[in-house]
Amino acid sequence: MNKWTEIKKRMDILDAMEHARNKILYDMETGAPSKSFPKIGKTLETLSRLYHEQMTELGLLELLQSCEKSEVSEIQWKMIKELERNLNKIIKIPADEYAAFNQLLITSHGKWLEAKKADDFSLFAPTLKEVVAFQKKYIEYQGYEANPYNALLDDYEPGLTVAELDVFFADVKAKIVPFLQELLAYPKMKAIKKAQVGKGHFPKAKQKELMVFLAKHVGYDFERGQLAESAHPFSQSFSNDDARITTRYDERDVQSSIFSVLHEFGHAIYELNIAEDLTMTPLGGGVSMGIHESQSRFYENIIGRSTSFWKPIYAAVQAYFPESYGDVTLEDFILSINTVEQSYIRVEADELTYPLHIMVRYDLEKQLFNDEITVEQLPELWNQKMEAYLGITPATLAEGVLQDIHWSQGSFGYFPTYALGSAYSAQFYHTLEKHVDINTDLLAGDLTNITAFLAENIHQYGKSKTPKEIIFDTTGESFDSTHYTSYLIDKYKKMFG
Ligand code: ZN
Repeated sequence: MNKWTEIKKRMDILDAMEHARNKILYDMETGAPSKSFPKIGKTLETLSRLYHEQMTELGLLELLQSCEKSEVSEIQWKMIKELERNLNKIIKIPADEYAAFNQLLITSHGKWLEAKKADDFSLFAPTLKEVVAFQKKYIEYQGYEANPYNALLDDYEPGLTVAELDVFFADVKAKIVPFLQELLAYPKMKAIKKAQVGKGHFPKAKQKELMVFLAKHVGYDFERGQLAESAHPFSQSFSNDDARITTRYDERDVQSSIFSVLHEFGHAIYELNIAEDLTMTPLGGGVSMGIHESQSRFYENIIGRSTSFWKPIYAAVQAYFPESYGDVTLEDFILSINTVEQSYIRVEADELTYPLHIMVRYDLEKQLFNDEITVEQLPELWNQKMEAYLGITPATLAEGVLQDIHWSQGSFGYFPTYALGSAYSAQFYHTLEKHVDINTDLLAGDLTNITAFLAENIHQYGKSKTPKEIIFDTTGESFDSTHYTSYLIDKYKKMFG
């Protein structure tokens, strides 16, 4: 057998296993009967074992390494290198330590929940210390340059470094922290909060209809997608013809579902636009968490919270919920969806304060993995940073250091990509404005040109370009956070000033 044919066969097996595993997980999140879980768990365990075996035990690395660049096409070579990169991350960890870590994460999740409920960090601290200790070992296994935290960042945003993030967050700190206090004092901001726009009862059935309307309006293809319900909104893609989204319906708040649908649509459209020759291969997905998040936040915030976007369709919201929105003007609706609050919870944060929440986590993770602070210090330092950046101090751990699931899952280095995504999206937007008459298109209810630009410059490439190449080739410059900080300040000044 020709070497590429052999490699491709192995890639197809891995992809099929991934596909099956992800579909099972999706099913568990979106309606599998509760008593089915233990047996589904058994299937998942077997699949994981088979996957691990395919990756590590059947000579895959040797096969990949035996292939010369001259034997394959450029894109095939990139597929080989991507798979090799993933494989190397796995095989650097001794199998027994990896198994023990997975076991630890199960305990860790339980301890985190317990501590959160009891408002007692000491119930979680010993386990978290073990998780951090494993991560430190993981960093040594992977190797790093300049800063140990770089090894963790690389898992979510290949090539991202502390040096780059320091520049980014310094810009956010210098401009957004003082601007927040200025903005909160604007009379228009105070008035819209007092007006309490959009209160009421929003029956689930009606919300569902509105969400389908909204998804279709932004161009979601229901023949290649699906809108399901889950405890937490997410998106999951299986190929470029199957990228699904979920939402959650809160009957007291329709805005929550509106913006989660727009957000998840951004993730899904990225996956749906990946080129045909890349889908279902090692290159067939979004290139990084940051670039993915730039797409979701682009539709959620930059497009989805703008006047031009809502002008042609706001009547639909009023028609579905006349009691809550019948008397609310478009202008007040727009102000209400852009209200800024000093809040404790990251996932409920508005567009402006969101990066400040991330900065708290970034500072602490960086210090933790540079041995500058200990696990025990986290609650106190958390509160100090919240005070410094947002001007508030959480009263409970559930509103503070224990609010996120990430650390209990061993996910360190993940948080910065959320803020980075918003920053990337502002830079893409800056370039997009030069190519597409965004306002005219939005007012006409037409997102075709906008999405086509993103598909052509970002989506289609999957993982065949690095995040840095995507940014440079799309915008003609390297990542520059000033696009983001300027966008935020200009936007809120114009809207509330
Ligand atoms: Zn997202």
